[in-house]
Amino acid sequence: MGPIYLDYAATTPADPLVVEAMRPFYFERFGNASSPHSFGQNARGAIEHSRATLADFIGAKPSEIVFTSGATESNNQAVFSTALSLIDKGRHVIICAIEHHSVLESAHRVAKLGYQVSFVKPNADGVIDPQAVFQLIRGDTILIAVHHANNEIGVIQPVEEIGAVARQKGVRFLVDATQTLGHIPVDVRRISCDLLSLSAHKFYGPQGVGALYVREGIKLEPRLHGGDQERGRRAGTHNLAGIVGLGKAIELSRNHMGKEAKEQSALRDHIIDYVLTNIENARLNGHRQQRLPNNAHFSLEDVNGEDLVAVLDMTGIAVSQGSACTWGVLEPSHVLKAIGLSDTLALGSLRISLGRWTTREEVDYFLQQLKSKVGQLRCRKK
Ligand code: PMP
Repeated sequence: MGPIYLDYAATTPADPLVVEAMRPFYFERFGNASSPHSFGQNARGAIEHSRATLADFIGAKPSEIVFTSGATESNNQAVFSTALSLIDKGRHVIICAIEHHSVLESAHRVAKLGYQVSFVKPNADGVIDPQAVFQLIRGDTILIAVHHANNEIGVIQPVEEIGAVARQKGVRFLVDATQTLGHIPVDVRRISCDLLSLSAHKFYGPQGVGALYVREGIKLEPRLHGGDQERGRRAGTHNLAGIVGLGKAIELSRNHMGKEAKEQSALRDHIIDYVLTNIENARLNGHRQQRLPNNAHFSLEDVNGEDLVAVLDMTGIAVSQGSACTWGVLEPSHVLKAIGLSDTLALGSLRISLGRWTTREEVDYFLQQLKSKVGQLRCRKK
């Protein structure tokens, strides 16, 4: 059997149809979308087509989409723009404690600038209680940030409930949908969010391109200056082929999403059942049902997650401990600590994330290898 990739939450391979759609935009259809000649206008047309496709998919208007380099940039811009533009309204932000670092670090930065940040912890299943968020809202609260699904433990958050109250209280609501877009339905109207971030490489598009949804009427402060691209909200020559690829990836997701979610959740449940029945002292992290169709995340007692990932890699299987962005950081994950895990259990973690091309055969081979490698690592420890 060839290499087995079970780390789709870190990044997905691009769909061949996405690459095919992008190809002409490096050659005969290239152009700077800001140029007035026909090359430029063709490029602009292609960008607007992708914008309309994405907007339609998430229930937005095309003018509410700002293309960026990915969710990190989108999240940074959402937090800083809100802090800057609403400074006269208040200086208090509410952030879910298990956000991706691109939100958390932005929050820490604004805290250094004199803003107050309240962190909301999840329960032991990794779920944020909307009441816990509402209790923190004050007269000077300008932003609530809660992600749609967690990138480590895959838990889906009750964003619609939180959004409804945020809207009613007039507090801006940022939702990081990087792990959900293209995998489960994302509708900005149902969520009642004001800002929503996403990255194409999490749904079979290219790396280095993403978007920020900005609800009509909200003034977005640019983070990049020096051009009036994206209606002055994000300067710099467009990533033309990337944006075309993002649009194509959305089209494919629209066709595949329902079927894939069903197939992947069956495989996910098979993994969870197998691990909990056949591997001693294993615990599932994150809510059993309220989780992404493609995510299984465990803690294994007396196993170091980093060692396990390395030995599995030697057998040709790519899995991860948690977030790819924090790999190499010896600290236990902030997500696992927030759900109450000890340092040892947090360091004994394993994330399996499935995708478009995962087969039952691959999963069964992985499970067999996992059982054997966990046994070997535990023996070595004794
Ligand atoms: N938010 C979440 C939930 C993510 O999973 C990621 C990627 N791991 C990001 C933001 C950042 O995305 P990117 O690296 O594409 O900018």
